[in-house]
Amino acid sequence: MVSGTMNKPDLLTELAVRPLVCDGAMGTQLLAHGIKSGECATLWNVDRPADVRAVHDAYCAAGCDLLTTNTFGGSSIALDRHGLAERAAELNEAAAKIAREAAGRRAWVLGDVGPFGDFLEPFGETTADALRESFRIQIQGLVTGGADAVLVETMSDPAEAVAGVEAAREVDANVPVVVTYAFQKAAPGVFKTMMGTSVEEAVSRAVGAGAGIVGANCGTSLDLEDYVELGKQLVASAGGTPVVVQPNAGAPRMVGEETVYDATPAQMAAAARDLLQAGVRIVGGCCGTTPAHVAAVAAAVKGR
Ligand SMILES: [Zn+2]
Repeated sequence: MVSGTMNKPDLLTELAVRPLVCDGAMGTQLLAHGIKSGECATLWNVDRPADVRAVHDAYCAAGCDLLTTNTFGGSSIALDRHGLAERAAELNEAAAKIAREAAGRRAWVLGDVGPFGDFLEPFGETTADALRESFRIQIQGLVTGGADAVLVETMSDPAEAVAGVEAAREVDANVPVVVTYAFQKAAPGVFKTMMGTSVEEAVSRAVGAGAGIVGANCGTSLDLEDYVELGKQLVASAGGTPVVVQPNAGAPRMVGEETVYDATPAQMAAAARDLLQAGVRIVGGCCGTTPAHVAAVAAAVKGR
């Protein structure tokens, strides 16, 4: 195993000392490097490693403390849609190695686990056991490649989040696990996941399973003010467990076929300050965020 923690403290130890900054969107950056829609981004960790590395380098240069591996669709179930299920361990290990090299001594690597892309039983056909095994293979690859922590992200179903935490625990009982959910606004000031899960229940299921950090990323049509309010509710529900919020660059709007996010780096930085004020300990970015957004957020977090 490649040691990523030898020269810096444990992530949770550091988080108790200072707030940290996470990176921004990977997908948008890979588009700029020429990935085609429908192409398997996880395969780029082996076929186009220099391009993946360039994205990590840009976020590192922007001043982030946490780099996220290019493995959002890297579970064996998700990879199976590209005929690549058998390569799950290899592709995830390669991804973690690229991020680990880019992070060097100054940043932590989050091994990224995204949704498997379907519903669990009884709404879908996948059992929790099969999902946990798929995540376990992915996370084994990520940890072997040098990930410092596991990020189970963009979750809608707490049962899926719990499967991710349990899978990480099977791989390494001590690896910190971060769980983030995608929320939407059910009413003014009321946030629920697509599965109808409340903030309180989402947090308690993740923390109960053993997540060491919990929060929100992405989401549907939330503007920056909504993320700040959501951050407050997450902190109130988390009872001392550190909270992370990774907003999109504002609420999206459609321009023809394209989804556009309009929030400027300065607006993201202002939201980051408000999130820290609310008690959030890690701020990063999701859809539409770029190294310029992360640089502004990092300056705000470190300069406050
Ligand atoms: Zn997103």
